[in-house]
Amino acid sequence: MTTTHPDFPIRYVVRPRARRVSLRIDAARREAVAVLPHARHKKRADKLIRDKADWLSGHLQTLPPPMPFEPGGQILLRGQMVELAREAGRGPAREEEGAFIIPCPKGASFAGRTGRALIALARESLTLQSHSHAQALDTKFTALTVRDTNSRWGSCSASGRLNFSWRLICAPMDVLDYVCAHEVAHLIEHNHGPQFWALVEKQVGHAKAPRRWLRENASTLFAVGAEK
Ligand SMILES: [Zn+2]
Repeated sequence: MTTTHPDFPIRYVVRPRARRVSLRIDAARREAVAVLPHARHKKRADKLIRDKADWLSGHLQTLPPPMPFEPGGQILLRGQMVELAREAGRGPAREEEGAFIIPCPKGASFAGRTGRALIALARESLTLQSHSHAQALDTKFTALTVRDTNSRWGSCSASGRLNFSWRLICAPMDVLDYVCAHEVAHLIEHNHGPQFWALVEKQVGHAKAPRRWLRENASTLFAVGAEK
């Protein structure tokens, strides 16, 4: 890229379905993202980036400190800070008194193993909680996937597939539980109307506190696994 840019990382994404050039912050990768309907809009995107440089760099600077996956580092797990520990050998990761222990054979990627261990833990809890809400509400989901989503914590497709962000395992359990109840309630009510909220609140009580937690701590969840 030849244009002179402000002093922060920018990623250009061409998305034909986008209606206009827009900017956002990718908190997980800690960079600005310019979304372009077509590559020919790059000049327009660069002007927008220059115009909004203060806002973008201010936003990037106030992100919580990264919590990289490295031995001795601290990450958020179920709402608590735990220390990552490396152990020689193989086998499943385990939690022990404030530590998350990752078996990692010589030459294997510790960060990669930690990420996969967190996804496995997330899948276990999300499946358990979703099943329990589905049973209570007398409904069923067809599949459950866990991914690194960046726009939504959870979603529910028309075919009954639930999709969640693995990062929910880093949030307190009542927050993860609320997101499961929310998506399971969408199996019955495909909207956010009063009947939908009545189902959610039947399962988890008031949804206000977990929703606020997610709003206020989103960038902290995205700092988990971010590189320094
Ligand atoms: Zn919803």
